[in-house]
Amino acid sequence: MFKKVLIANRGEIALRVIVACRELGIKTVAVYSEADENSLHVKYADEDVCIGPPRSADSYLNVPAIISAAEITGADAIHPGYGFLSESAYLAEVCEACHIRFIGPDPNVIKLMGDKARARRAMKKAGVPMLPGSDGPVDSEEAAKVAKDIGYPVIIKAVAGGGGRGMRVVRAAADLGNALRTAQREAEAAFGVGDVYVEKYLENPRHIEFQVLGDHHGNLVHLGERECSIQRRHQKLLEESPASPLTDKVRRKMGNLVVDAAKAVQYTNAGTFEFLMDQDGKFSFMEVNTRLQVEHPVTEMVTGIDIVKEQIRIAAGERLSFKQSEVTFTGHAIECRINAEDPDTFAPSPGVIHAFSVPGGPGVRIDTAAHSECTISPYYDSMIAKIIVHGRDRQEAIARMRRTLEMTVIEGIKTSVPLQLKIINDPDFAAAKLNTGFMDRYTATPTPAAGSFAEAS
Ligand code: ADP
Repeated sequence: MFKKVLIANRGEIALRVIVACRELGIKTVAVYSEADENSLHVKYADEDVCIGPPRSADSYLNVPAIISAAEITGADAIHPGYGFLSESAYLAEVCEACHIRFIGPDPNVIKLMGDKARARRAMKKAGVPMLPGSDGPVDSEEAAKVAKDIGYPVIIKAVAGGGGRGMRVVRAAADLGNALRTAQREAEAAFGVGDVYVEKYLENPRHIEFQVLGDHHGNLVHLGERECSIQRRHQKLLEESPASPLTDKVRRKMGNLVVDAAKAVQYTNAGTFEFLMDQDGKFSFMEVNTRLQVEHPVTEMVTGIDIVKEQIRIAAGERLSFKQSEVTFTGHAIECRINAEDPDTFAPSPGVIHAFSVPGGPGVRIDTAAHSECTISPYYDSMIAKIIVHGRDRQEAIARMRRTLEMTVIEGIKTSVPLQLKIINDPDFAAAKLNTGFMDRYTATPTPAAGSFAEAS
């Protein structure tokens, strides 16, 4: 087992990894930017190293600085968390070259899945159901041909996509050219690669994803699914497990399919296979995220499996300690992401938190690095806390989430707590009538707020 793990991240996820390391008896190294000197992840790690100025590009995305920090402190592994460098095949390769273990999949698998057009081809070959679309990146001529073949509406997506950026829905041939150029420009600006592909656009599908874990001895299991249909601008706001429309039979079938597909690309460590489910219950592959997800806690609550500890054990070469038949699903879990933003206009709201109190009680888990008198910096992602609840069934989980949100006090900045309460109190949410267009009822009016937060993931 590792003696010391460096966490190349900040905020709640850095703390989450520290918690797992402490339980495994592993020492931790925090890295931090000048803006995060007083952060909790720095306080709770055994050692800490400043890796640069506040801008992410100069600190949390600075591979040489992170590798130097690992070498100076003698860390034998790096956990990248989510966002930042978590899907960087380059960091994984540099780690390998420096004999530092990267806690994540093999760099080749990260590269394959990081190119969504290639990932589509690989998954199609493995027998995973797909939406019709282009087989690779397209220019305007090919895009027009593919769109005509599969029929409008279509969606143009960035090959290097993430965080909902570089995506454009096109409803008529006349709009294709402009949308293609905009998506290419956006993709180029966000990812440095302008390539885009075309896929059939589904109206109001559900977002359902499967969690997998694979060791280096050929063992691969799935931990069931999460439903993440509550989204704003293609970004998740609230997630739950299990997904209400899934029967045990469908879960088993999809789970087996995902396990076989993961085996086909020799997937190791933690990963998420994302799907859209249409109104007839048909699944179509979207992408594989080769990292820990923000929403992993809902899976942990229903399975009792600590995904971060498993990631660390797997990276250290240990075998998975359980078989598929030993994975059980108990009750229902919901996660609400609490962002520092105006709940009505979504304008970012960085600043100093003067009071911070979230009640505990049965079935409540709070993953956060925020506390009273801490400063929420404008340099990073706006998510400041995750409230996760577990109940015997969905109804109990909803009641727990409602009372937790109602009793939460965060003063000094605006947060999405009131918005999350609206969702929790929505009769359609209670009836599990969900789809990715659910939030339109709350977000139709406000125009996207001018962002002063940098987007981390
Ligand atoms: P990213 O990697 O940028 O997060 P994803 O491919 O995971 O992008 O898609 C994010 C969200 O965008 C989905 O959850 C869904 O709401 C929407 N989306 C993506 N592809 C489609 C599609 N073909 N039809 C309808 N909605 C889509």
